[in-house]
Amino acid sequence: MSENFDVKLDGKSYLPDPSVKESSWIQDYETAYNDFLKDPEGHWANIAEELDWFRKWDRVKEWEHPYAKWFTNAKTNITYNCLDRHIFNGKRNKVAIIWVGDDGKEEVITYRQLYREVMRFANGLKSLGVVKGDRVCIYMPLVPEQIIAMLACARIGAVHSVVFGGFGSNALHSRIKDAQAKIVVTADAAIRRGKRLDLKTLVDKAVVNASCVEKIVVLRRMSPPMELFSEIEVDFNEILDKEDKECEPEVMDSEDPLFILYTSGTTGPAKGIVHTCGGYMVGTYYTSKYMLDLKESDVMWCTADPGWITGHSYIVYGPLSVGATILITEATPDYPNPGIWWSMIEEFDVTVFYTAPTAIRMFMRQGEEWPQKYNLDCLRILGSVGEPLNPEAFEWYYRVIGKGKCPILDTWWQTETGMHMITTAVGEPMKPGFAGRPVPGIIADVVDENGQPVPPGTGGLLVIKEPWPSMMRTVYGNDERYRQYWSTIGNYYTAGDLAVKDEDGYIMILGRSDDVLIVAGHNIGSAEVESALVSHEAVAEAAVIGKPDPLKGDSIKAFIILRVGYKASDKLKLDLVYHVRMNLGPIAIPSEIEFVESLPKTRSGKIMRRVLKARELGKDPGDLSTLEE
Ligand code: ATP
Ligand code: MG
Repeated sequence: MSENFDVKLDGKSYLPDPSVKESSWIQDYETAYNDFLKDPEGHWANIAEELDWFRKWDRVKEWEHPYAKWFTNAKTNITYNCLDRHIFNGKRNKVAIIWVGDDGKEEVITYRQLYREVMRFANGLKSLGVVKGDRVCIYMPLVPEQIIAMLACARIGAVHSVVFGGFGSNALHSRIKDAQAKIVVTADAAIRRGKRLDLKTLVDKAVVNASCVEKIVVLRRMSPPMELFSEIEVDFNEILDKEDKECEPEVMDSEDPLFILYTSGTTGPAKGIVHTCGGYMVGTYYTSKYMLDLKESDVMWCTADPGWITGHSYIVYGPLSVGATILITEATPDYPNPGIWWSMIEEFDVTVFYTAPTAIRMFMRQGEEWPQKYNLDCLRILGSVGEPLNPEAFEWYYRVIGKGKCPILDTWWQTETGMHMITTAVGEPMKPGFAGRPVPGIIADVVDENGQPVPPGTGGLLVIKEPWPSMMRTVYGNDERYRQYWSTIGNYYTAGDLAVKDEDGYIMILGRSDDVLIVAGHNIGSAEVESALVSHEAVAEAAVIGKPDPLKGDSIKAFIILRVGYKASDKLKLDLVYHVRMNLGPIAIPSEIEFVESLPKTRSGKIMRRVLKARELGKDPGDLSTLEE
């Protein structure tokens, strides 16, 4: 970046109804944050004390830059905290998972049932020769068995690597090879919009030249059941039925690896992020309880797939360690109609709903009449993650879905961070466009290239200044890449995102530092221009890129998806330019606007600006394995 830059901030804020605070876990953000500052290690130790350990830690933290150890020499097993302790605390018959199929079929699984199935499958994995430390690749549709497989790995200390079931065989192949997976757990097919999508055939292709793979476990959902090749293929349900139902949790060191998970691949090739047992468990439990304000009585619906970190942390490990009920579904948001998700919220009394801006913008595009058909009074808390939640999308979510009574948590975090890092605690004032303030326990700041804090209103680089329990420990097989995160700006952890703070310490994410636009010597975050465009009534979604310009440095090109009912025209282009000019000033106006039907996105729903840019400039877009078709 050439220099720091000013950002136009509006001071709008919403205060949730005071009743929200009456029952919230965090009563006052400032008190919680100051308590942490007074005794950082004590803060984390207190949270860890809420969980069960086979042996307690000698030290809370050991930090030798850039390597951290948390809860040293403590022993635990995350599945003990997600399952056994609820069973022993009289909650065996509480519902753990509600699953809804693409065709609306329901399945309900209690904690007792989940516990049994996990132990059976864990024994099944053992019978296939899986031992502590082995990598198991899980490539499945969003069915309960996907979660059972994850927990079964954790039960015996195998390191799971969940690969999103929507990936193609090349992406799967490279992830299997990178992690050197011994076993692949898969299903015959996924079902999407009433259609069968073969997974197993993709696995067959992916394991060619992957000699690390010894066995493939196949969940057969279809009839007639597909033939298995008995030398290396095993039926999922057969090993469940055959195996002993008792499996003691493996005693895991706090620093033993729990899983490898690949990032979304938005900015480049995906990185295999490694998380460990103790710190990750504490971080996801903590933020599920104290940030999402999750109670045992909640029905939590996180619409991600367990193939992404959001699913790992806030479908599986966080909510189950708190003892809540989770809803999962194979259904797509607009099939058979754009009311399907809202009907499910009504039907299952969902109280905490956590989704992504891409979904919210899709619903905005379809119109308010869909959510209005359903009674959404059960909702208590709404969350967002993955991309900046544009102020326009915030307002819509708050008003149309939350009816002005639900706090909105725009949570900023990454695969690498394992847990929420910046958000607005329940009951605190919310500012549209701002994720919020650092989670108590996290020291985040906006700095210049030399690591010096920039003043409020000035854009800069987002960094985390101190280690935290659920931070990644390495990039699998590429520790050099890991060290880069902690050595780019001073000794800080560099997130790779641009941000700005306001006078109250609220942080707004301005986009990726890779996507920064430099126009006539001024830096502009892509999210700023996109949010300005999305705030126009005709615009459903926008992506901007910089094109090299001999005079300006970058000239801005905007790609626009219109809302239903609006037509592309030159007049509208002029309107949009004027709109951006009024909102952000003359520097930020797009020189070119193109109306499009869709935008290139990752399979986790993030706009891939690098693809737009490469197409525009006729250059190589780089790794496209994550691109949604
Ligand atoms: P890759 O690192 O492979 O390019 P990725 O960064 O998209 O992919 P993830 O770890 O899934 O992979 O996403 C983290 C990134 O998502 C963050 O760095 C940030 O850019 C964006 N993000 C997540 N939550 C938010 C949020 N609430 N507001 C703005 N941006 C967010
Ligand atoms: Mg990233």
